[in-house]
Amino acid sequence: MSEKPYDYLVVGAGLFGAVFARQAADAGKRVLVIDRRNHIAGNAYTYLEDKIHVHQYGAHIFHTNNGEVWTYLNRFARFNRFTNTVVANYKGEIYSLPFNMYTFNKMWGVVTPDEAKAVIDEQKKEIQGEPKNLEEQAISLVGRDIYEKLIKGYTEKQWGRECKDLPSFIIRRLPVRLTYDNNYFNALYQGIPIGGYTKMVENMLEGIPVELNQDYLKNREHWNSMADRIVYTGPIDEYFDFAEGPLEYRSVRFETEKLNTPNFQGNAAVNYTDAETPWTRIIEYKWFEDLGSDVTIISREYSSEWKPGDEPYYPVNDEKNSALYQTYKELGDSEPNVIFGGRLGEYRYYDMDGVVARALEVAREELGQ
Ligand code: UDP
Repeated sequence: MSEKPYDYLVVGAGLFGAVFARQAADAGKRVLVIDRRNHIAGNAYTYLEDKIHVHQYGAHIFHTNNGEVWTYLNRFARFNRFTNTVVANYKGEIYSLPFNMYTFNKMWGVVTPDEAKAVIDEQKKEIQGEPKNLEEQAISLVGRDIYEKLIKGYTEKQWGRECKDLPSFIIRRLPVRLTYDNNYFNALYQGIPIGGYTKMVENMLEGIPVELNQDYLKNREHWNSMADRIVYTGPIDEYFDFAEGPLEYRSVRFETEKLNTPNFQGNAAVNYTDAETPWTRIIEYKWFEDLGSDVTIISREYSSEWKPGDEPYYPVNDEKNSALYQTYKELGDSEPNVIFGGRLGEYRYYDMDGVVARALEVAREELGQ
């Protein structure tokens, strides 16, 4: 029998930590969860203000093709039928995203899929051979008109780099459809947890002790004495005191305001796809779960290059950073009692369903389930 009060210390109460903690507790293990923030749920954290669930760290729209993950999360929340349908605003012209028949109709006046295809085929002729970068890939998928109005400005603002210098796979995340279907995701299951993500994570952590405002890295000795095994979901480079140098991220700044109107933009997400507007998009949270608020709360998103001290959002999985991560991963593998997990622990741009799937897998391996 161990001398230590817990079998597992889970560092970070985000989705990875909460799933692992739940699985370990259900397997009869003694689990303690700590987080250096003053709240649970990590970047999925939502808070209620004026009958609106605000997503403090940016819009989180759950979508998955993974039936196991969907069934699992439905133990802790009921999901509404929210379907993400994004509106693009290009200098006041409104288009439907992702690229579908509504987009093509507005752009060119075409009505049938054959007519749309004919225009795209004509415009993509300028690209010969395999697309070499995001610009060429975009034009060969949807033609130059759509590239200029809906892709170029947005992408260059988001990544702070020219489309010619970005990899083509980024744009292939978006569906292109010759149907009148403006569902942003190709996913079997989609929705927002009714009552907010924080409530869902709270339900996952039911019966498990959670200590907030506790920074593992500032007092390792104490925390290590609390449990036999550590599940660490913070930044892996910070765990090793940035010994090999910091991993890079793209960061996002949110300007959030409450407006005295019940309806600001008529949709949860409006992307500003021109180069001149400084923000990339505006999220109006009440449309994720409409509780009938008289006011509205919106966030303008500004994409920025990350610097140490900023909140990390998107890992930059380029060659340089991927190689650096490998070095940290090897260091991590040699820590016998620590499991690194989640977006920061694994330096991976997981969607939420990917995090849950990975945490379930790690829990299975670890707990022998
Ligand atoms: N994109 C675009 N115009 C838009 C929305 C997206 O050109 O209005 C491109 C852009 O290059 C972006 C990529 O599609 O980086 C992926 O978009 P996604 O919505 O998946 O990005 P996320 O919401 O994860 O930041």
